[in-house]
Amino acid sequence: MMIISVRAVQLTRFTDLGLRVVMYLVAGPPESMPSTRTVADRLGLSYAHTTKVVARLGELGVVTTRRGRGGGLGITELGRTASLGWLTRALEGDEEVVDCEGAQPCPMRRGCRLRSKLRAAQDAFYTALDDITIADLADSGAGTVLLDLEAPDGR
Ligand code: SF4
Repeated sequence: MMIISVRAVQLTRFTDLGLRVVMYLVAGPPESMPSTRTVADRLGLSYAHTTKVVARLGELGVVTTRRGRGGGLGITELGRTASLGWLTRALEGDEEVVDCEGAQPCPMRRGCRLRSKLRAAQDAFYTALDDITIADLADSGAGTVLLDLEAPDGR
């Protein structure tokens, strides 16, 4: 019996970190531009991972960076208004739930109906995230919690 490798519908750590960063930035006052270090500290993330995530968010146009004194990270208008589904898709990439064509391609792939059903389920997962924007995530109580986050050592 063949054992197929299935990636559960689970976000990658990279995507999770990206969503945490944009939620934190969207909750802050529009004029505030925290440094990457501050964001990493407040969210309990490693600086190296945060830097990579911020670079990708910058490529996607949802985060802007300003260098020099008073510089830092800011959320763009696209970042505020983008749907959670769009951003999650963009961070995850287009990998399928099941790797049918990997190092050992599945011999059933030519006539497999399971594959298309799994694709449809994956699409449905992202579609369910399309009716909320990033800004919505920081509305009311959530935004207050995000702004109250302190660095682990109280900085
Ligand atoms: S082709 Fe079908 S059975 Fe084979 S790995 Fe893909 S989804 Fe699974």
